[in-house]
Amino acid sequence: MTKFDPILNIKAFVNPDHFDFESVNCYQCGSNESTFFLKGEEDLTGKDGEFQYVKCNNCELVYQNPRISISGIKEFYDTEYIAHRKKKNWGILTPLYEHAMSKHDREKEKLVRSYMTIDKNTRVLDVGCAVGTFLLHLNKKYECQISGVDFKENLDYPDFEKIDFHEGLFYEQDLPKQSFDLITMWHFFEHDYDPNQTLKYAKSLLKPGGLLIIEVPRLDSLTFKLFKSKWPGIQAPQHTALYDKKNLVNILHKHDYKIDHYLPYGAFPAYFYIFTGTYFRTLGKGLNLDKIVFPYFLGQFLLSPILWFQKKLNLSMQTVVCSKS
Ligand SMILES: [Zn+2]
Repeated sequence: MTKFDPILNIKAFVNPDHFDFESVNCYQCGSNESTFFLKGEEDLTGKDGEFQYVKCNNCELVYQNPRISISGIKEFYDTEYIAHRKKKNWGILTPLYEHAMSKHDREKEKLVRSYMTIDKNTRVLDVGCAVGTFLLHLNKKYECQISGVDFKENLDYPDFEKIDFHEGLFYEQDLPKQSFDLITMWHFFEHDYDPNQTLKYAKSLLKPGGLLIIEVPRLDSLTFKLFKSKWPGIQAPQHTALYDKKNLVNILHKHDYKIDHYLPYGAFPAYFYIFTGTYFRTLGKGLNLDKIVFPYFLGQFLLSPILWFQKKLNLSMQTVVCSKS
């Protein structure tokens, strides 16, 4: 049998000429031997492109290979990207939408507060902070010190100036060493172009006893089994790696983190993946948020008896709470 060649294989996919693909070795073990895993698309916005995920023959990490170069990926993080959305008018549904957005920040806070106390002396760094609503929520409630990093330019939001904000790649920032009590990465790590540098740098920034909390989509989850290549956790080409429990734990151990808690859920609503996965499977790619906001909340209401147990069902997310070992 001939060896699988990711570069050769992607040539059969349909992609615009200007995409600048680069080959990459496994983030976890460095091997360049892999097997085809799946073809992913940008289902959320419906943009053109067919992207390839491979499984490492050595450690079984699933990652995008080849990937779009870091300068080319920026076009996929435009203003429509959901995490960067500004306040918007949804008509009579505006209060419901705003409640859902702020609920997400309250869920993050609740998760963090299960493992540490926060007060005005606490220093928090949110990596991939987007417009910073989580940091601003914490600051308003606890008066803690808030720093954020995002590679998206020209972010703008009410009170954004209250954040000690750093623009660019996380591991290229010059942040004070051993100074943070908490570093959070909510759906950042699966976008990362160099997860090893990120984990190394985060460790150098944590105070002794400080916590690193990472939430990512979980590959070995029920929604992946249901939706496969239409799983919203793929979100190609932004997601550079798709972690299952084993590989998330392994990469953290590789960098000598101690995993204090592993959770088969996150602060992000599992229902979002159930809804969008069903949509991508049945109606195709390209989600028009203006059109789906009503069915979204209706479906959430109808599924509420199931969602009540979401922390036990391994639906879509995973979170690790770690400290320096
Ligand atoms: Zn590997």
